[in-house]
Amino acid sequence: MKTSFTFDFGKALQSQAQLRLWMVTALVLTFCTLGALYGWLSAPQIAVAVLHVVYALVVYRIQRKTTQMSEGLLFTTAILDAAWVFGWVMVTGPFGILFTPLFNFSTIGYGMRTGSRKVLRVSQGASFLFACLVPVMSPYWASHMIGWGSAILAVVIVPWYAGELTRQFKAAIEFAEQESRAKSELLARVSHELRTPLGGITHAAELLRVEAPSVRSADLSKTILNLSEHLLADINDLLDQSKLTAGKMALSPASHALEGMLEIVRASIEARAQAKGLLFQASIDPRLASQVLVDERWLSRVLINLAGNAVKFTEVGSVSLNLILLSETQTEYVIRFGVHDTGIGISATDQAKIFSPFVQAEDGKRHASEGTGLGLAISQEAVRLMGGALRVASTPGSGSHFWFDLHLEKASSAPALTPSAAPLAPQSIESAPVATGRRILLADDNATNLFLLKELLQQDGHSVVTSTSGAGALATLSHGDRFDLLLLDYNLGDMDGTQVLQIYRMGCAQPAPAFFLTADATLVTERKLSETGARGVLTKPIRIADLRRAISSETPPAARQAESEAQARATPPSSSRHAEDGVNTGKHLRAVSVMYIDPTVIQKLQSLGRSKNFLVEMLSRAKADISRSTEAITAALQHQDAGAARDAAHALKGVCLEIGALRLANVGLAIMRGDDAQLESQSARMRADLRTEAANTLAAIDRILTEQTQIAASF
Ligand code: ADP
Repeated sequence: MKTSFTFDFGKALQSQAQLRLWMVTALVLTFCTLGALYGWLSAPQIAVAVLHVVYALVVYRIQRKTTQMSEGLLFTTAILDAAWVFGWVMVTGPFGILFTPLFNFSTIGYGMRTGSRKVLRVSQGASFLFACLVPVMSPYWASHMIGWGSAILAVVIVPWYAGELTRQFKAAIEFAEQESRAKSELLARVSHELRTPLGGITHAAELLRVEAPSVRSADLSKTILNLSEHLLADINDLLDQSKLTAGKMALSPASHALEGMLEIVRASIEARAQAKGLLFQASIDPRLASQVLVDERWLSRVLINLAGNAVKFTEVGSVSLNLILLSETQTEYVIRFGVHDTGIGISATDQAKIFSPFVQAEDGKRHASEGTGLGLAISQEAVRLMGGALRVASTPGSGSHFWFDLHLEKASSAPALTPSAAPLAPQSIESAPVATGRRILLADDNATNLFLLKELLQQDGHSVVTSTSGAGALATLSHGDRFDLLLLDYNLGDMDGTQVLQIYRMGCAQPAPAFFLTADATLVTERKLSETGARGVLTKPIRIADLRRAISSETPPAARQAESEAQARATPPSSSRHAEDGVNTGKHLRAVSVMYIDPTVIQKLQSLGRSKNFLVEMLSRAKADISRSTEAITAALQHQDAGAARDAAHALKGVCLEIGALRLANVGLAIMRGDDAQLESQSARMRADLRTEAANTLAAIDRILTEQTQIAASF
């Protein structure tokens, strides 16, 4: 029978075998040398010595080959080790008493190394039996029972006492571990609870800042905001530290461009450096062109922490952040991430301590009152998880250099797979793009937060419908109102936000994009939310900059339609392709793709063209097919003939994919996938969507056709 021991257990037994070999060899050499010198070496003694060495060698060889050990071999060696002591006692007469400590040595060794009481008992039992056998077999010890009796007593008492101490020691360790886990959990809970009121404070301060009647009030609210930011950073550190202690820190790598990540870091640090009059430089090796698989959130967090510290502890000079390519293979880069500063530096003694949690260097304490001393501990753990080691070199008074090397796998040339629900990286209020005029459904069971968030959104010109419960949000959504965006609190009291989103998405062909709001920044929640199909997660307290970024990253169907129509009118035919590409110069709206027809597909069709008129003919036919299918779907939906609607949608999807009409193809796909009940209940909405998307697609085809006609005429 095999016991499935862990690797460490096997290793412990390997070292036991090694120690046995060393001890037996030393014992035999000493014994034989003394015996030869004083001339008392006998044949039985030589036989025991040789056989014992052979035994130790054989067990060592067996154990060295494998980190696992069969239970049989384990118990056999535990018994045989006691038997060898017996052998030595038997052949050494009165000197045998000198070998008795070996009984305990082997018993305690087995007990401690394996941590198994069963093994300890077997070894102790064997030692006891062999010790009792000695006076039976040896006439000398039979006549010296008092001396040997004390040896037997030691065989019983010493391992028992050692076992008892070990048990108490283990219990103390377990208690300490439990206490530490409980502390981490408490810390996580407390920081979670702090986030919600902090959200209220931040929102109120944001509002005050906007509505401030005087410059002084605006300044004061800015101070509240700044202090809230610091408080939030500290709470985040505590939360991460508790995750780290509980061993729950994990990475979620995805495909990212390092340049984009560097921009996030720059956005967060540059203003702080400039405010102190420092030169801040961020550079990236131009050979780092491919995207890489990395947890961008953690990598940027580490760099922001290192660069933030560099700015904090530098009064004059510069701070630089560099990404240097050390080597490259077909599949990976080896990159050095380094942060240099010309600041106060760190003494050699402090360099050894600053990576421990809650530790600040003496000079550092004098220079900066803020900070928890957690940043480097968290960064070091994050870098370790990414496969590197965070290092520091520093000269007090001259500056510091923090760096780490990472092997990062190159991502395929596919577009970035940013996790669908990655928390948004922080950005300054000023840098956040401002979209306006969206219809937003906001659901949060905390009335104060709801009120403040609504006010903030309305300040930006959005129209906001609110709900304090999941059921309420669903009721609003079922009225058929169109929303451009849903902002759903994760914890809505009656149900969680993910359920609301699931129910809503099930009953809707073209659901509005959704963001979750949550005060729960734990990894479990983050994972759960990232699997719901939401666009992202906004962690409370929600900053207006993050909110704005989230909103402007989503262009609503209504706005897209209006934008494309406006552009179609305003843009001369020759540049209509740009309108299709989604180049949007609107003042407030970010450049967002409004690709009714994918230009790359059109280019491909052009290059495939066997005749001059190939593309024109193809698009004209597609136009007719799209109109026919759209009518067929509309009629089928009206007459509640789900089968016919799906068939026609299938045909529509096919023709759309041929010419790169991706958006209309998606509408077709949604109808194809709808079950009878959905097609019936959502009939009106689906028809409306279809009508809008088809009209825009046909208009886009017309523009391409006009363009083609003009090109043909110019030849
Ligand atoms: P915090 O900055 O919150 O105190 P960190 O763990 O990030 O915590 O840093 C621990 C300590 O290491 C700092 O308090 C400071 O004493 C020292 N330190 C970190 N970075 C630098 C730097 N670039 N220059 C000088 N001292 C530094």
